[in-house]
Amino acid sequence: MSDHPIIACQDLSFAYQDGPMLFQSVDVEFPANSMSVVQGASGAGKSTFLRLLNRLETPTSGNILFDGRPLIEYDPPILRRSVSYIHQTPTLIDGTIRRNLTLPFTFHTNQSRSAPDDSRIRRGLEEFMMDRLSLEDNALSLSGGEKQRLCLLRSMLLSPQVMLLDEPLSALDSNSRDAVVTAMEKVNLDHGITMIIVSHIEFEPRRAGPRTFRLEKGEMVRLS
Ligand code: ADP
Repeated sequence: MSDHPIIACQDLSFAYQDGPMLFQSVDVEFPANSMSVVQGASGAGKSTFLRLLNRLETPTSGNILFDGRPLIEYDPPILRRSVSYIHQTPTLIDGTIRRNLTLPFTFHTNQSRSAPDDSRIRRGLEEFMMDRLSLEDNALSLSGGEKQRLCLLRSMLLSPQVMLLDEPLSALDSNSRDAVVTAMEKVNLDHGITMIIVSHIEFEPRRAGPRTFRLEKGEMVRLS
């Protein structure tokens, strides 16, 4: 693993308009290919932190660098191709698995990329332990854990450098959680994608311990 920080926050402070300071002078680095988990009480600002990393919010002061360059220098659509944000609740359309996985390739920002073919999709489903499914199955008929893994696969097929995951486990039962944790770990270790995961639920990946942080009273404290 390289120590090159793919994302670095420097003296980062943030408050919503007319709101209290959520972060005060946060300095934190996320090395390329690492997996980090940010914990913290509800309302501590975890989702806001992720949204800042994707330019969905703008810092009140301080800097965020992606790959050594200030975030502000990137066009948001280009940035979001490299730094992908995955919502807490899977956002899938009423259509087949194939349609859900190929749809992003019809978007303007991805027009230079070729959509995965059926054999690539089948390999992806196998990798994420969903090989019992057919490409023709409706994505909305899947279980919660399968939907979350499909969202992970959809994002992975677009080859981002970083994935930001907002509470990916919170809506799942414990069996589904294990499968999603395994899938997240594969994305990180087998595909080298940096993962920054906000989760109030503690979890133990099998192959590697993630770096853990706690966001508390405006500070980002490194726990491990
Ligand atoms: P967490 O993810 O840790 O639960 P959030 O980042 O969602 O915390 O929210 C942190 C605080 O910011 C909360 O007090 C929340 O009410 C407030 N907040 C979140 N989004 C907005 C917004 N768009 N405008 C104003 N306040 C917000």
